[in-house]
Parts: sequence; C-alpha cells; structure tokens
Amino acid sequence: MSAWAKVPMGPPDAILGISEKFKASTNAKKMNLGVGAYRDDAGRPFLLPSVRKAENALAQMNLDKEYAPITGIPVFRELATRLAYGDEVYESIAERLVSAQSLSGTGALRVAAAVLAKFYEPSSTIYVSNPTWGNHNNVFSAAGLAVQSYRYYDPKTHMLDAQGMLADLEDMPDRSIVLLHACAHNPTGVDPTPEQWDDILRVVRTKNHFVLMDMAYQGFASGNPARDGFAPRLFAEMNVPMMLCQSFAKNMGLYGERVGCFSMLAASAEEAARLESQVKIIIRGLYSNPPVHGARIAARILGDPELRTQWHQDIETMSTRIRDMRALLRSHLEDTFHSAHDWSHITSQIGMFCYTGLNPAQVDKLTRDLARVFDP
Ligand code: PLP
Repeated sequence: MSAWAKVPMGPPDAILGISEKFKASTNAKKMNLGVGAYRDDAGRPFLLPSVRKAENALAQMNLDKEYAPITGIPVFRELATRLAYGDEVYESIAERLVSAQSLSGTGALRVAAAVLAKFYEPSSTIYVSNPTWGNHNNVFSAAGLAVQSYRYYDPKTHMLDAQGMLADLEDMPDRSIVLLHACAHNPTGVDPTPEQWDDILRVVRTKNHFVLMDMAYQGFASGNPARDGFAPRLFAEMNVPMMLCQSFAKNMGLYGERVGCFSMLAASAEEAARLESQVKIIIRGLYSNPPVHGARIAARILGDPELRTQWHQDIETMSTRIRDMRALLRSHLEDTFHSAHDWSHITSQIGMFCYTGLNPAQVDKLTRDLARVFDP
C-alpha cells in the first residue's frame, strides 16, 4: 500500500476555482474579477515603466547570481523600511530595528509568525479582523499560532465597526497579538480613519498588545506611499511593540518576483542583535536566503531619484484607474441599470477589492445568469 494512501483530498482554493472557470470560458469579453492582481484597460498585466527601466539598468551591470545574505540585500532592507516608516521615524528607530528581505508579503508573515510562535511568551493566539485575507489563517496556523478574530466590518453600514473592534481589543487578554492591515484592507476595502487609528492605538497601548502590521498595498489606497504609511509610522513612533510585513507585489507589480520585507522593533540595540540572530536561524531553516533579482529592482527604484519619481507616477496611474473603475461600476449600476440599492460603498471602499455586499445566493444567481448570457 502506498504511504500516502490515507492522505485526504484537500479542499480546492476558492479563488483558483474561479480562475479555472475563467480560463475555460471562450467569451472574448470575459474578465477575471477574482484574482488580486492589477490589470490595464486591455485586461493585461501591467509592467510598471519604473520596473522596466530598473531592469534595463541592472542588465547593463552584469551582476552575478551569488547567494544573498540570509536576511537579504542590505540596501534593499534599508530602503524598504525607510519607505514604510518614513525617513524621520526610521532614523529614530534604525539602531533597534531588525529587518529581513522576505518572500513577498506572505513570506514576511510566515517569518513573523514563526518568531512569535517560538519566542513570544505572553500568548500564542493571534487575533485577525473579521473578515480578513484568506491566507492569514493558513500562514499563522502553519507556524503553530491559534487564530481568533475581532469585529471589523459592519455588513449593515458597509463601514468599519469601530465600536465593536475597540470593544474586542479591550476584551482580549493583555499583551495579545493583534494583526492589523495597514491600508487598503483585504477583502473589505474599509480602512480606519486617522482618528480611528488614534483610538486603536490608545487601546493597544493601554492593553500592551503586540501588533503585527500587514502592509501589502502601500500606495494603492491613496496613490501616495507616504500617506498610506500612516499607521506603521504612527505605531512605531509611539513605540508600540510591533512587527511589519511589507509586500512589493502590488505597488511595484512584482508579484512573481516575491519581493517583501519583514521588520520588528526591539527595545534596544542589544535586544535587536539577539532577535536578529534568531530571525536568521528561522529563515535559514525555512528557505535559507531570499532571491536577488526582484529586490535589486525594488532597491534600484527606491534609491534612484529619477526612477522613484517614475514609480510614484506609476502608482498614481494604477490607483487612479482603480478609483475610476469604482466610479464607473457604481454609475452603471445606478444610472444605466437604475438600481435602487445603495451602492455608495463601491466608491467609499479603498484599494483593489470591492466588497460588494452581495450574498452567496445572489452571487450564484449572477454566475448562472451571466454564464447563460455570455457562454450560451
Ligand atoms: N497580505 C494581504 C492582506 C494580502 O492581500 C496579500 C496578497 O494578496 C498579501 C499579504 C501577500 O501577498 P504576496 O505574498 O503576494 O506579497
């Protein structure tokens, strides 16, 4: 008998299932709304001009393909964390900031979870927003953390359930681990306002919670990376014990290059050195060291004033189009189809995702009806 005879079939990935149906359709007008990747007006992936220019410049340099250090390319780590925390806060925390280039945002979360599971004594439970990105549960449980949730989205108002969220943060045991989405919350597109962030910060500090901040969309919420870095900047400035997971998949369109950064704030330089040694041991056992190509591109863009200006324009292009698409979708529903339903959340939500407010039965009906119209 095969050693794997008793391995059960795992459930299919919900999003990939939709992609399969998408691929199977022969309709020329088909659009895949399930995948979290930016597309241009022709429905094609968008290679950012800043990325193309950085790649061309790198190609001229005839760089070798030697291994990167365990924590990645040093200049990339510095530029990535400077981008996240802003120059001023970065300067004030640099000597006690531990950082590591990661396998995009998911890899940063996996390293964060491993460090927490191994060393964070007050708790091994992480609280995530309800709802949250589907993979959070997967990544955190794989590292040995238990996952619970706090209230976040109010389906009735399509807005943040600020009261519920603050009450749940209060009710958790002191020093709990709390995952916060820095901006462009996935999947709801609902972010706290600066005033609400102040309230969250106040409760987090009173309760001494540990914050794991996930920033997969810096620049995608407002079109301005500095503005979107508001939350990590605020929390680091106020010395909240925290980790930050950055992804450059969306804001540089480097999805498949797997470019990200993990960082954590220590109490002192001495503590940072101890933590860094443990982060290295964890990474060595997970994947040894990160890939070089994508991080070189990102470092080149962030470090070269001309390319950086181009990148800001590229982000503006993408975020403006996302906002335009939201406005168009809403106006079609309201003006073209005369829907009496309140669709204002389509334009008040932020980032790539639209939390439509449709229930599963409505989505099933749409899928059936559209399939009849488009693929008779
Ligand atoms: N975190 C959130 C909230 C996300 O939405 C995503 C991607 O969809 C990620 C992290 C990680 O993405 P990646 O590993 O591609 O950087």
